Amino acid sequence: MKMNGDIRPILDRALAGERLTADDCATLLAADDFLSIGVAADQVRKRLHPDGIVTYIIDRNINYTNVCNVVCTFCAFYRRPGAKDTYVLSLEEVCHKIDETIAAGGTGILMQGGLHPDFGIEWYEELLRELHARYPQLQLHCFSPPEIHNIHLISKLSYEEILARLKEAGLYSLPGGGAEILDDEVRRRISTKCTTEQWLGVMRAAHRVGLRSTATMMFGIGDRLEHRVRHLQRIRHLQDETGGFTAFIPWTFQRENTALGRRLKEEPTGVDYLKMLAVSRLFLDNIENIQVSWLTQGLRLGQVALRFGANDMGSVMIEENVISAAGAHFRADEATLRRLIENAGFVPQQRDILYRHVHRRPGEPALRDETPATTVAG
Ligand code: SF4
Repeated sequence: MKMNGDIRPILDRALAGERLTADDCATLLAADDFLSIGVAADQVRKRLHPDGIVTYIIDRNINYTNVCNVVCTFCAFYRRPGAKDTYVLSLEEVCHKIDETIAAGGTGILMQGGLHPDFGIEWYEELLRELHARYPQLQLHCFSPPEIHNIHLISKLSYEEILARLKEAGLYSLPGGGAEILDDEVRRRISTKCTTEQWLGVMRAAHRVGLRSTATMMFGIGDRLEHRVRHLQRIRHLQDETGGFTAFIPWTFQRENTALGRRLKEEPTGVDYLKMLAVSRLFLDNIENIQVSWLTQGLRLGQVALRFGANDMGSVMIEENVISAAGAHFRADEATLRRLIENAGFVPQQRDILYRHVHRRPGEPALRDETPATTVAG
């Protein structure tokens, strides 16, 4: 058992602004004293965000298709091509969802889908062009690395060519999904989608063409502590190279209705989550924002996580299909999120996808035809 004495020097070095090593990271993750780690992470969060503000975004997760030509044993969302209950949303259906998002005060959409075997670059370009023409101020945060890799396989273009073309068509930024655990020893066991190097390669290309992105981690999928350490190392290393990640968002595997969930005996606890979040804050010294995943952890633990290094409450999710298919059914409106943030001792503040503050009157949309998308502060 690792007690407080073992980790104090590591926490002191982190508080002094020193970069932690992989061994430090492993020691912290193995330690029992998660409260001391949380207190240190809270202090680092305060140093990086001294204004006492906790941000949130209003957006909508639109899953344009559930057709997917790879298999992930942790996924309850996908359907094989040709299965009876597959779908591809029409442009009108997507626009209807966007109209509702804007009416609710939203500033963007997070659009992701399965890996469709027939969709080449042109399909994505056309969709983005249409949406960008209809909603020029809406931030299109779309297509995680596995989707970009799938376009690469279908259209035989490099990641940079694909991302430059999608940016030209209206893509605003890239979501960091599909990372799970960035270690092929783990990935190979649970999925046939892109490898660690390919995921990182897509992100490197995105940052090179001037797109920002988030980075994520889903743990509790049969990974061991050393895999989690390597994941954090790889994210930090790429961030040193490009500086393109806006935020890091860890969450735990949601097991319901999944093949992997039926096989695994144990799942991460609330303490595992809080410790992972706090260690991320201490280890990822080059990433500004750490986001809570209340969607998977629940609103109450999500609120507590704000004292374990997180400075962002994530999204007022108007719609979510992938994680909810695997058993997470938490919901919150804007008023609830604001109240939770205030009750934890912070000032709630709406943001856009690049973490710039958005100022709008309650009940009114942030996006209007005649005015700029957001009033940007800070
Ligand atoms: S997680 Fe994504 S890539 Fe994997 S099966 Fe589900 S939809 Fe397909």
